[in-house]
Amino acid sequence: MSKRKPLHLLSASERNCRAKGRYVSERVAKIYAERIGAQREVRLSVYHCPHCKKWHLTSLPQPIDDFEVVA
Ligand SMILES: [Zn+2]
Repeated sequence: MSKRKPLHLLSASERNCRAKGRYVSERVAKIYAERIGAQREVRLSVYHCPHCKKWHLTSLPQPIDDFEVVA
């Protein structure tokens, strides 16, 4: 991660990438998805991130590249 863009120039998926925990492998991500999902009583899935080349968890069934989180 050598280049750093200002936050307002990041796409939603890049902001997600920064905000989320990263897992080095799919196997590890799935272990945490089960553990954290059980704690929060949600179903988490894992996806490979095109930005950091690592794995993140998402509560969405399918990762969507540029979704906006509406709180
Ligand atoms: Zn990422």
